[in-house]
Amino acid sequence: MTKSVEKERKHKQTRVCAAITMEPVIDPSRYAQWLMLIQGKTFVLRGVQAFKSGASAGSKELSTEELQDAKLSWYRRIQQEVNQAEYERMKGDLPLPNTSAILKLDPCYDKRDHLLWAGGRLQHSDLPEGTKHRIILPHGHAVVEKIIQSVHKELLHAGPESTLSVLHQEIWLTKGRHEIKRNLGKCLVCQHQRVGPCSQKMAPLPSERVSLSPVFTHIGIDFAGPLFVRGSASSVKACISIFTCASSHTGGFKPHWGQMLFGPWELPNFL
Ligand SMILES: [Zn+2]
Repeated sequence: MTKSVEKERKHKQTRVCAAITMEPVIDPSRYAQWLMLIQGKTFVLRGVQAFKSGASAGSKELSTEELQDAKLSWYRRIQQEVNQAEYERMKGDLPLPNTSAILKLDPCYDKRDHLLWAGGRLQHSDLPEGTKHRIILPHGHAVVEKIIQSVHKELLHAGPESTLSVLHQEIWLTKGRHEIKRNLGKCLVCQHQRVGPCSQKMAPLPSERVSLSPVFTHIGIDFAGPLFVRGSASSVKACISIFTCASSHTGGFKPHWGQMLFGPWELPNFL
């Protein structure tokens, strides 16, 4: 009995499974600009290449080819993160399901750059592949927002249509117009340019203006002039005082010949 138990214990095996999650090397939220993301990715790819080959990383200057590879690498990562199911199916030459969000773009898989391209009507033309097909990028991704802001600043804070037009030269952004308008609304420079002048809040009217009282109990006085009134021989200098009742808005005026000012003692004469 003891031997059989020991035999069973010997056959008992413990298997431990560990799930390893590969975290992205570069966190896009830590970079303010699209160009900085590309440069950071370029250094990472250069380091990986140097590690694989065992050679040194080379010069500090970044070549155009390295920057282009890094940019395509970012496009690839965005597609794999957002459209992972579609990416894997297209990579395996499988058709997309009818529920796919990018099905209407007639996507195709580029085996050279490993990217999803939007189909189009220029497939049989002699244009370069990058012109015939544009790279599909989904809306709402943090890197896509930085791409939009970068193009917007390169165009000196142009409007949504101009930004969308330049973006469509290389990429096809899903819900592009809405996404660009949403991102441009966050631009502080554009917000400062759009803001209008402040309007002053009007104070409440004083009690003399809104309470009943005999006419000309409370008045406002204004002046007009000097006026030159043509007389018999020569013109005479004059001014006009205008009296307005504060409560009834009744008005009156009185000319003053040959003088600019008058004293309050003249008011009873007018009234
Ligand atoms: Zn702007």
